[in-house]
Amino acid sequence: MVARMDQATDTTLLADLLQARRGTAFFARKLNELGDEELDGASLLPGWSRRHVVAHVGYNARALSRLIEWAATGVETPMYPSPEYRDREILFGATLSPAALRNLFDHSAVHLNVEWRDLSDESWEARVRTAQGRNVAAGETVWLRTREVWVHAVDLANGAGFEDIPDSILRRFLDDITASWRVRGTDQGLRIEVPLDAGTLARGDLASPRARLVTGSLPAITAWAAGRGAKGVSQDRGPLLPAPPWI
Ligand code: ZN
Repeated sequence: MVARMDQATDTTLLADLLQARRGTAFFARKLNELGDEELDGASLLPGWSRRHVVAHVGYNARALSRLIEWAATGVETPMYPSPEYRDREILFGATLSPAALRNLFDHSAVHLNVEWRDLSDESWEARVRTAQGRNVAAGETVWLRTREVWVHAVDLANGAGFEDIPDSILRRFLDDITASWRVRGTDQGLRIEVPLDAGTLARGDLASPRARLVTGSLPAITAWAAGRGAKGVSQDRGPLLPAPPWI
């Protein structure tokens, strides 16, 4: 995973690729800290064992590789044939042997990295479609993967937390989540504030003076907003509810 071998020359893109690679290394480290039997244990995601998380992260790399191949060749290859296929694939992957699961993660990550490395500047601009149906430039795959590996490393539930995720990634992730709430209108009456060195980051319902105010550190608020618990999060009045769904 040597950055200087990238075909891409855009410095922002190269910096983004570095964060995706760091996140992949972070996920690999947390996975390697787990013994084979521990893969059977629960993840932070309801109904998913750690096996499901590892399978999902592996298949996600394969799916994003298909988007890069699409960008490189112009031949349409979606992430998944259907949402049902994606779900079935994860269920199947979770039944693999520990060695096969680890290989799935390793090989799919290396493959995606090679696809990224060999993509030309021109092809990085090519338009592809995500599993959610969004039409995006191929460069968006870097952010999608970055989010996946950092957050699912926490979901492995063996010691990683949102405080291990770089602030720039947390801010972008929180923006994704709050943008999704805005589109759905589920942030009405809910304002979140995060004190940062550069001032207060406010998101959600900024118009209503009666909005309940949810506050906490950037890692705590982002974890809560992503549906990963409410540790370190407080509200100005009333019981703190789970954050609205974002995906
Ligand atoms: Zn995921």
